[in-house]
Amino acid sequence: MPELPEVESIKLQLQKYLVGHKIINIEIRNPKYELEKDKVLNAKIKSIRRFAKVLAIDLSSGYSIVIHIKLTGQLIYRGPNLPKVSTISQKVTGGVPGKHTHVIFKLDHGGFLYYNDVRRFGWIKVIKTAEVETSGFVGKLGPEPFGSAQGKPFTYEYFQGVLAKTKRAVKVVLMDQSKMGGVGNIYANDALWLAGINPKKESKKLGNEEIKKLYGAIHQVLKEGVKYGGASELAFVTPDGQEGSYQNYTLAYGKEGTLCPRPACRQIGVKFTKYFLSGRGTYVCPNCQV
Ligand SMILES: [Zn+2]
Repeated sequence: MPELPEVESIKLQLQKYLVGHKIINIEIRNPKYELEKDKVLNAKIKSIRRFAKVLAIDLSSGYSIVIHIKLTGQLIYRGPNLPKVSTISQKVTGGVPGKHTHVIFKLDHGGFLYYNDVRRFGWIKVIKTAEVETSGFVGKLGPEPFGSAQGKPFTYEYFQGVLAKTKRAVKVVLMDQSKMGGVGNIYANDALWLAGINPKKESKKLGNEEIKKLYGAIHQVLKEGVKYGGASELAFVTPDGQEGSYQNYTLAYGKEGTLCPRPACRQIGVKFTKYFLSGRGTYVCPNCQV
């Protein structure tokens, strides 16, 4: 599922293509994505915000279009201002508009924003802008790295407090969106490797040094993720129709059977292993993540 860096990459492009433009028509092609058109039509797009893995398109009408793309949702923009080479990735199954296009927003400058979703787990809701941060799904999110528009900063003290209270495996806690927003499986795996921590370790047993390393590692891997435009697994593409490239730069994720790059591990030929923890693929170096 797309995580903080992937959704941030979408946000940055939507800011570029949509802000300042009016939504002049909406075509809903699938009843699951029915939305209150009267709150959206002819409104100008004022800003795009991200809350962990959720996007909010804020409108001049006082309402926001809130979108969670979940596993396979895609927001594809076609229209003015796109880079010259703007071929669409093969990951956009059926193209746009295509058989997996469920909503089409038409903009006043001749641009279109398409919502595609093969599995249809994603959702779109229209919520009062003033209530986006406190209600529904977004209201239940924990603080997130890089600060948060919800006014709940992800401080070191907060992180330490969360870990001290639970016996759950540290990796499971990192991915618990109610405790901290935005980190999913790819970045949890990479942050734990970078910090040299066993994903299965009981959270409350982590020492201060380990927590410090992990806190720094989480920020570092998410920053790398944003730098590479996210990781394109499954269906992730940015609104220009391009894929991200973080999948080529992962530290531990997807590395089973390859040598751990830490010199001490490489020297003795230690390879990453893989197992499932709470149903999610977990990649670990048995030498430096003990
Ligand atoms: Zn290692």
